[in-house]
Amino acid sequence: MTASASELPARADVVIVGGGIAGMSAAWYLRAAGLDVVVCEKGVVAGEQSSRNWGWIRQQGRDQSELPIVMESMRRWQEIADAVDCDIGYARHGALYLCENDAEMARHDRFMSFAPAYGLETRRLSRRELEDLIVDCPPRWQSGLFTPDDGRAEPALAVPAMARRLGGEGVAVLERCAVLEITTQAGAVDGVVSEHGRIDAGAVLVAAGAWSSRLLRGCGIDLPQLTVKASVARTAPMPSIFDGNASGSQVAFRRRLDGGYSVAMTDYLEVFPSVDHLRHIGAFLPLLKTSFAKLRLRRPEVRIDDDFVATRTLDPQPSAAVVERLRRRLVDRVPAFKDIEFVQAWSGMIDALPDVVPVLDRAPDTEGLWIATGFSGHGFGIGPAAGRIMADLIQGNPVEYDLSRFRLARFADGSPLKLGPAI
Ligand SMILES: Cc1cc2nc3c(=O)[nH]c(=O)nc-3n(C[C@H](O)[C@H](O)[C@H](O)COP(=O)(O)OP(=O)(O)OC[C@H]3O[C@@H](n4cnc5c(N)ncnc54)[C@H](O)[C@@H]3O)c2cc1C
Repeated sequence: MTASASELPARADVVIVGGGIAGMSAAWYLRAAGLDVVVCEKGVVAGEQSSRNWGWIRQQGRDQSELPIVMESMRRWQEIADAVDCDIGYARHGALYLCENDAEMARHDRFMSFAPAYGLETRRLSRRELEDLIVDCPPRWQSGLFTPDDGRAEPALAVPAMARRLGGEGVAVLERCAVLEITTQAGAVDGVVSEHGRIDAGAVLVAAGAWSSRLLRGCGIDLPQLTVKASVARTAPMPSIFDGNASGSQVAFRRRLDGGYSVAMTDYLEVFPSVDHLRHIGAFLPLLKTSFAKLRLRRPEVRIDDDFVATRTLDPQPSAAVVERLRRRLVDRVPAFKDIEFVQAWSGMIDALPDVVPVLDRAPDTEGLWIATGFSGHGFGIGPAAGRIMADLIQGNPVEYDLSRFRLARFADGSPLKLGPAI
């Protein structure tokens, strides 16, 4: 629903800032618990990362603290897929990491040091086994790591379908409704000021993706959050090479609901240097060291600043050169793609925190201010369970996971940062 001043609810139990997978999932479970929820989205639902991602819903390769949460998320995705009004393409055909040499296998294999203890079925695959999974498997891939239960869904369909379902249940999902300020009284949240007016609320959840740091700064919170641009393309429907999600050292491909593939480079991220990059460079140094080879500095194309109305949707465009590079890489790596044309190409700004895991927490000094952000390139898959967790935290219910890894204070309390698996 496009927001207008006359239709703005005067109050809600919870205002959620951001209509991506994190905000919508929290709304989903808060509504299920009977709370009165308003979602404010400055652009359109899932206009930013949540519609632009690869659509992988993977347990494989996760940080250990995220693993049990994403395992829950697989069930949550099924709940959501069963409840919405269209096929969102949720299917579990596995995630496969393709390795060209022992060093690549050893890197992925670190996951095996803890994954089996969680009851996750992840297998090392030999070249022979890869040949059974991938049609005309290129000779360069010698081994792999495979989680058969991993899944996928269509990013362009999933969150909008959730929003429609919530709208039908009385949740106000307000598009073109930027939250300009979160207001407090006596150390507690008392609402938000949106571009259309005020909404009173005892709780506010910031799930604003790449903009969270900007919004939180107005509440005196310094969140070291930066963005990188990543580009994706899709093919027309084509014969199947592999029905799940596959990723090698340079390219990734994921079977789509429409029978095409979403494809991307795995080692190519563009960075638009900004004042924030300078401010947070110290915190990001360890990540920079491990990811440096993937990064390309570019002249800024999109703006993330304090004006939440001016940029309704971050919409960076892939350059023709990047799309061509992706096409060449893909054909070189996977000959089965040899005659492909891309039907569409797009880009998104991935928001990242220095240790590549999100914040799922309450703001320490402000009662009723909650934060779910910084999913660092893998928030689509874990989003539904992250939303369920936030819904329980907001209601004061116990949460069964150790969330200390996701606390906000880790960036300020002097504790050493533990780097999660790379973006
Ligand atoms: C190219 C690419 C590939 C990816 N691939 C995968 C993948 O395969 N699997 C995976 O799990 N993850 C993947 N990710 C990451 C995943 O998409 C994100 O982690 C996830 O979508 C983040 O969800 P979010 O709700 O936190 O943020 P977003 O989806 O970015 O939503 C935040 C929303 O908040 C709104 N907003 C911001 N400020 C305000 C304000 N002041 N008022 C109102 N609204 C506001 C924004 O407009 C935006 O719509 C990928 C990301 C990209 C870009």
